[in-house]
Amino acid sequence: MFKRSDLATLIDSETLTKRIGELGEEISRDYEGKDLAVIGILKGSFVFLADLVRAFDIECTVDFLGLSSYGSATTSSGVVKITSDLTTPIEGRDVLVVEDIIDTGLTMRYLLDNLQTRRPNSVRICTLLHKPANARCEVPIHYKGFTIDDHFVVGFGLDYAEKFRNVPYIGYKR
Ligand code: 5GP
Repeated sequence: MFKRSDLATLIDSETLTKRIGELGEEISRDYEGKDLAVIGILKGSFVFLADLVRAFDIECTVDFLGLSSYGSATTSSGVVKITSDLTTPIEGRDVLVVEDIIDTGLTMRYLLDNLQTRRPNSVRICTLLHKPANARCEVPIHYKGFTIDDHFVVGFGLDYAEKFRNVPYIGYKR
């Protein structure tokens, strides 16, 4: 375990705010006139999603999907369980999946396959962070905040043992 005072800043609040604003503008342009269903992946996406949707100037609905990945605290096994499902159908709708970080890509691969069975009109992925160093499968990322090196990061929704989600920047243990 480590403490908040052990954290070094990787991406500060100001940089996050600016980039999320840009993503919001880009997504608003792309989804103008469409039936946008934003789906946040719990728990890690909740901070990013809250800022992202407030940067939209278009209408959307927001729903959440709870996923848990079996594995150790800091590595992904790719075996994923839905712990809390969507509350409304997405059939025929334009879905934007909002994720905190894509590491191996295994969680997102599973999720994309699962969402396709629900017959949406389209599905795109928006992730705050991407760690390409550990990629184990091909995942199409349409909107990306930042590409980062192979650090285990916390803050801005991301946890270590359920802590640090409320840290207002992306940090790593120094
Ligand atoms: P993937 O299946 O792409 O390997 O992992 C996706 C999930 O693993 C993320 O949604 C997140 O919960 C967790 N994860 C991967 N890398 C990190 C990291 O650097 N920090 C934290 N806190 N979680 C991570």
